[in-house]
Amino acid sequence: MDKPKKYLYFFGAGKAEGKAAQRELLGGKGAGLHEMTRIGIPVPPGFTIITDVCTYYYAHRGRYPQGLQREVARGLGRVEKIMGRKFGDPKNPLLVSVRSGARESMPGMMDTVLNLGLNDQTVSGLIALTQNPRFAYDSYRRFVQMYGDVVLGLKPKDKDERDPFEIVLERKKRAQGARFDSDLSAQDLKEIVAEFKAEIKSKLGKDFPEDPHEQLWGAIGAVFGSWNNDRAIAYRELYHIPHTWGTAVNVQAMVFGNMGERCATGVAFTRNPATGEKHFYGEFLVNAQGEDVVAGVRTPRPIAELKEIMPQSHRELQRICKILEKRYKEMQDIEFTIENNRLWMLQTRTGKRTGFAAVRIAVDMVEERIISKEEALLRIEPEHLNQLLRPIFDEADKERAAKEGRILAKGLPAGPGAATGRVVFHAEDAEGWNQRGERVVLCRVETSPDDIRGMQAAQAILTARGGMTSHAALVARQMGKICVAGCEAVDIDYGRREMRVDDVLLREGDWLSVDGSTGEVIRGEVQTLPSEVLQVLIGGTLDPRSSKGYQQFAKLMKWADGVRRIGVRTNTDQPEQARVAMAFGTEGIGLCRTEHMFFEGDRIQAVREMILAEDESGRRRALAKLLPIQRRDFKEILEIMGELPVTIRTLDPPLHEFLPKTEKEIVELAQVMDVPVEALKNKVKVLQEFNPMLGHRGCRLGISYPEITEMQAQAIFEAACLLRQEGKNPFPEVMIPLVGSRQEFHVQRAIVERVAQETMKAFGVKLRYLIGTMIELPRACLVADEIAREAEFFSFGTNDLTQTCLGLSRDDAGKFLPSYIVHGLLPEDPFVSIDRDGVGALMRLALERGRKARRELEVGICGEHGGDPASVAFCHEIGLDYVSCSPYRVPIAKLAAAQASLRRG
Ligand code: PEP
Ligand code: MG
Repeated sequence: MDKPKKYLYFFGAGKAEGKAAQRELLGGKGAGLHEMTRIGIPVPPGFTIITDVCTYYYAHRGRYPQGLQREVARGLGRVEKIMGRKFGDPKNPLLVSVRSGARESMPGMMDTVLNLGLNDQTVSGLIALTQNPRFAYDSYRRFVQMYGDVVLGLKPKDKDERDPFEIVLERKKRAQGARFDSDLSAQDLKEIVAEFKAEIKSKLGKDFPEDPHEQLWGAIGAVFGSWNNDRAIAYRELYHIPHTWGTAVNVQAMVFGNMGERCATGVAFTRNPATGEKHFYGEFLVNAQGEDVVAGVRTPRPIAELKEIMPQSHRELQRICKILEKRYKEMQDIEFTIENNRLWMLQTRTGKRTGFAAVRIAVDMVEERIISKEEALLRIEPEHLNQLLRPIFDEADKERAAKEGRILAKGLPAGPGAATGRVVFHAEDAEGWNQRGERVVLCRVETSPDDIRGMQAAQAILTARGGMTSHAALVARQMGKICVAGCEAVDIDYGRREMRVDDVLLREGDWLSVDGSTGEVIRGEVQTLPSEVLQVLIGGTLDPRSSKGYQQFAKLMKWADGVRRIGVRTNTDQPEQARVAMAFGTEGIGLCRTEHMFFEGDRIQAVREMILAEDESGRRRALAKLLPIQRRDFKEILEIMGELPVTIRTLDPPLHEFLPKTEKEIVELAQVMDVPVEALKNKVKVLQEFNPMLGHRGCRLGISYPEITEMQAQAIFEAACLLRQEGKNPFPEVMIPLVGSRQEFHVQRAIVERVAQETMKAFGVKLRYLIGTMIELPRACLVADEIAREAEFFSFGTNDLTQTCLGLSRDDAGKFLPSYIVHGLLPEDPFVSIDRDGVGALMRLALERGRKARRELEVGICGEHGGDPASVAFCHEIGLDYVSCSPYRVPIAKLAAAQASLRRG
């Protein structure tokens, strides 16, 4: 480490050596304290030991850089001077707090020690100063408890063991007949201090340090040490905070909210963090210390009541909040203490908020002329918009569930939103229960196309296996279903119709709640709230004028449309979904998976006939059944989409998804096809593949059986011609999947082109249309120039391109991929967010080669990545024309695209 000029930054009495912009150096809390001091807000004096010291501490096995000790001594001296008290002085003692503070806030993850500097001598000084022995011993008791836990490490070893300090406290309360801590006398508390110390001595074999300087260095070391406790590490992993940042340490003079009835402590937000409404929001406790508010020992009171009890402090607090919001141009989360009617600020930071609040605050702040539209767009996490579209859990009810230990497990948050329903294990049951008016959660080991109607009927889907591009996840997102996938802790027994999560048993019909935004699986019912945006846009059940939430959402989308440069299309194969996407302002369909259109009703039967036909004539018989169905579907979707492009992909069925599975299905199919059951069984066996995702799918099927491509092209162009005859102007783009060479594309294109010409001629109309290909194999990227000579557009199928580029099967990479991410071998699940260096490099190459061969080549992406904000940014950077994502992700992709434009130009 380069030796910095100083390790310690002082603040106090209106002067501060640091400022708001120095979060990296001072941590978020430190930067806030310095800034507040600098602008004249009352902050107890103190100093910040910078984050570099933490890095040094870890690089040098817990040692500190030279000179730090001297700086701390000097800093302490300055605090003493301002406070008029002395650290360790038995007559007039200064007490300090020692708190962590990283660059990004990591609430509750690291350690804090309060009331430091107390010992058997200084406590008498505190009594003399305050004339309040009970307060002094209460502070001492808290200090020994906190220090014993945080610094000395006397805490429960596992979740079954009780806190040793709480045992002592409980015992004393029982002996004195006291209900609350506040019922204990000064003498009781004094005895507790002695008992705490004895407990430390007996359990740890060491004395409680009486020397305040020893206490201070112990606490500083503990705060640095807490940067690497399990909780903090897990939190950083979850929120992608680098482990190298380190925390700062803030040492600050104590002010007391627990000195009596003229004292209080609290936390507040300058706006409501749940709804975003512009009102002062928070809670406080009279005669209490900071941790009491969050610990839930006593129920805090709403901040409005402070106005009645301490009107002057309330007024002052409001005034300060206004100053802070103006200064930071952001909603602030503050901590304060009132000591004998004097208000002190202990923290200010950007407040965390829900998606609802994020949108409301950003839009309101534009209207209040605090920030620009561009700033508003940049402030909202695209994923946050999900919350505006999905039902959500009532937070208080969910908290109750957590307190009752009902959160059972966590899987992948595959389909955001919240749902409660009764457990069913089979798709037919989901339908059956749903028809009886029951809400159900369909729980499967994994889903398959057979389950599609059950998935539609269910409120939510839970799978034990599968990743973010598993069938369940993909279909759920497209349907807008709530889904938790790959929840490995769930052990399903289909036979018994029950599942276990550890030792909890759930049977069919039991209530289960699923949070697809967090991946949590919760036993029992949790109350949900509906989304206003959907009520306006999709249901039409709410007047937009009466929904502020909707109006703000619409405003934000309009701003996003105004700045983004990349188009946003949608992946859909159902008319209903197309309507949803239109309501969200999609600019076309980027992927219509025709094989998905066969999952409904008895269509799958005809598809099976087609796949299993012995010869071309058998296949043509089955295709003839499918043609009118496809034509009708295409016509409906093309009509909904008006003049917007509709990219329809020719059949790409992983065969295993379509083969009949049960004896009953095979017998029924044999009857329809008029072939012996055994012969059909054999055929099914022959078609079984080891690696179906790399098997007889994509254009390979159309090459083996050209009549399939022919029928589909006929259905598409007949549908379009029919619309043309009605005076409409549809725009189909026919897309050939899984192409790896120009030759493959050439033969498929020739069929489509021929059918297009024949159909237009037969109908006597002219159509706009394009014929292009998916790019989803590395070879296709390498020979993109050759392919582009014949293809009018490319669409990156990044699901398959990720699979083939990384050599990871999309079906079961989920078994080991999570450990790659935990160990930092991969930054993210590459099926969720584009692997820029590998898959991304192939995309760049394909784009460059493709556009060299055909300048006007239209290029988009339709893999699941099209709805992932980081991947959208990448697509913007490399210059794609559009991204395509599931209908419910259209707003997210639009916002991500706008942010990419604003950040990258
Ligand atoms: C892809 O591979 O990215 C794609 C969109 O196709 P599918 O997921 O249907 O294979
Ligand atoms: Mg694909």
